[in-house]
Amino acid sequence: MTWHYFFRLQSSKGNMRSPVLVLTVSLLVAVLARGQNPAPAAAEPPALPYTPSLDPHAMDTSVEPCVDFYQYSCGGWQKANPIPADQTSWSVYGKLYEDNLVFLRAMLEQAAPGTERDSVSQKIGDFYAACMDESAMEKRGLSAVQPDLDAIAGLRSVKEITPLVARLQFTYGETILFSQGSAQDPDDSERQIAELDQGGLGLPDRDYYLEQDAKSKEIRERYLEHVAKVFALAGESQEAAKKNAQTVLRIETVLAAAQLTQVERRDPYKLKHKLQVADLSGIAPNLDWRVYYQELDYPSFEIVNLATPDYFRAMSRLLASEPLANWQTYLRFHVVDSFSPYLSAAFVDESFEFYRKYLRGAKEQQPRWKRCVQYTDRDLGEALGQVYVAKVFSPELKASTLDMVRRIEDAMGERIRSLDWMSPETKQQALTKLAGIRNKIGYPDKWRDYSSVRIVSTDFAGDIVRANEFERRRDINKVGKPVDHGEWEISPPTVDAYYDPQMNDINFPAGVLQPPLYDAKLDDAPNYGDTGGTIGHELTHGFDDEGSQFDAKGNLKNWWTKEDRAKFEARTQCVEDQYAQYVVVDDVHINSKLTLGEDVADFGGEILAYIAWQGATKDKTLPPRDGLTPEQRFFVGFAQWACANERPEELRVRAVTDPHSPAKYRINGVVRNMPEFSQAFSCKSSQPMVKSPEKVCKVW
Ligand SMILES: [Zn+2]
Repeated sequence: MTWHYFFRLQSSKGNMRSPVLVLTVSLLVAVLARGQNPAPAAAEPPALPYTPSLDPHAMDTSVEPCVDFYQYSCGGWQKANPIPADQTSWSVYGKLYEDNLVFLRAMLEQAAPGTERDSVSQKIGDFYAACMDESAMEKRGLSAVQPDLDAIAGLRSVKEITPLVARLQFTYGETILFSQGSAQDPDDSERQIAELDQGGLGLPDRDYYLEQDAKSKEIRERYLEHVAKVFALAGESQEAAKKNAQTVLRIETVLAAAQLTQVERRDPYKLKHKLQVADLSGIAPNLDWRVYYQELDYPSFEIVNLATPDYFRAMSRLLASEPLANWQTYLRFHVVDSFSPYLSAAFVDESFEFYRKYLRGAKEQQPRWKRCVQYTDRDLGEALGQVYVAKVFSPELKASTLDMVRRIEDAMGERIRSLDWMSPETKQQALTKLAGIRNKIGYPDKWRDYSSVRIVSTDFAGDIVRANEFERRRDINKVGKPVDHGEWEISPPTVDAYYDPQMNDINFPAGVLQPPLYDAKLDDAPNYGDTGGTIGHELTHGFDDEGSQFDAKGNLKNWWTKEDRAKFEARTQCVEDQYAQYVVVDDVHINSKLTLGEDVADFGGEILAYIAWQGATKDKTLPPRDGLTPEQRFFVGFAQWACANERPEELRVRAVTDPHSPAKYRINGVVRNMPEFSQAFSCKSSQPMVKSPEKVCKVW
């Protein structure tokens, strides 16, 4: 589990990796429609375009900062940046990622087959070229998945399903019934054990199957149509396709009902059920677990963490009660549906129509090149990242951002020591945890070696299968081995950051340390407001309602006194209550039990950034600029990371699945609790961005 700063949700089913890796494919962005944006012909890739980290033109000064600070800081940006037709939302983060894609595209085209290349460029160049060859995919139709469809058709009994499920999971991942892989032992973070978790659904979350409001019912109706379409495209009669769609929805609904909710999954104890692998057969007897692990060729092991036992019980019962033909129908759908983005145009289009257009509101498919750059980043990210980092991440940039990280960590230490509600005992433990945090900046010290992945410039579907196999094998082989603390979960070009509680590390890829987020050309005020806040946010995750349950070593172990924990929970309740009042879209409120960790991190992060900024500039005289005082510039710099426009469909999906609050509340919700803000803008106590002092939430 990891907590990201800017969690972008996958918008099509085109991803077949673990949930963590899904995050690297932020299906974002595009200003220019296909054909209007030819790749540069020059030998050198273009530099990333420059936008300052504080842009006065992005503001809307007709709005009072103390009335709606987000609108004041971002209103101009919102007006100037309508959502492009191929996007489900548009934001400062999204635009930067779009710039990255254009930049990476040029590098990939320079690495095309037939040019002179080293072994790294060869891999990414061939992968990208294969992806761009749409005519080859058109000719092949469904053939890439045909052997798997044949194997499903060849099943003679449910008993035979175990080895087939294992094999299919290698390619199609958790969409086949459940997810599997390695994980750090929650009680001993240096140890890698096997893990099993819920999965197997086609819609984004269990709630979609179970909620009874009109919108949820409409989505299920539309899902039935989508499933039937996929069957029809795969060659079934309309009548059979419709009937089979009902079967798929019925099976998935039973699976969904046995799944933990997103909120339940935020409790790490609810996900911890370590047992002997031999005991799996007592819980889910209708899969042959010995055969299962043999088929996946796991290193020998004894302990498995069964994250969701109730799910496996229900799935096992269903395996026995559903006829074989229905399971064949279920598997057939998931194979074709999850592989659709890599098949011929009819499949690609239907996947887009449902997952990205209907569910999330995109108007147009992204141009092919854009999807291909993102697939390359997802599947060969540390090969692509090497080339990227060499161009955009200098040693000076690494040094200056690392300096900022250290200052924010010092601020956190200072803050912990001065907390008025925490006992010295717990403070000591918190400081130990803080000292144990590892900082990872820019890119990994050791690059992942993809030399064993066979990439063929004329076989895109095959490349996807082999890249998936490589990743799953790599993951499985960790079982029983020591933890590699140098490993990253996202690629260097990713515009995001994360904290991992079991690693107890904070991770900032090169992609998130570029203007307008971190701007080496501008002064400290907006940089601390923006990137300083992001660093503080990730640090605070180690101490939010969830992260605070892990100790300095990353083990799930209580280090709090009972009294301090009760006080802490009363303080996070203040945050939860504040955010519960905000509306996401229509009548949908923020599920503030889901967003609590992120909201606490947003609060803590900005306070730390402010303290660190004051420390970093205490001997300097800071002049006003653009009509703003230094303090005002700190806060506008903060708000402008979050400037965004979002489609209502996208907001609706995120309300269920995204642990982050919508952009507007990630700003306005924070400043209302910072007296430093109301001082900076001389707000009156009656104004919306000001809370009375006794109501201000203060956690860290
Ligand atoms: Zn976060």
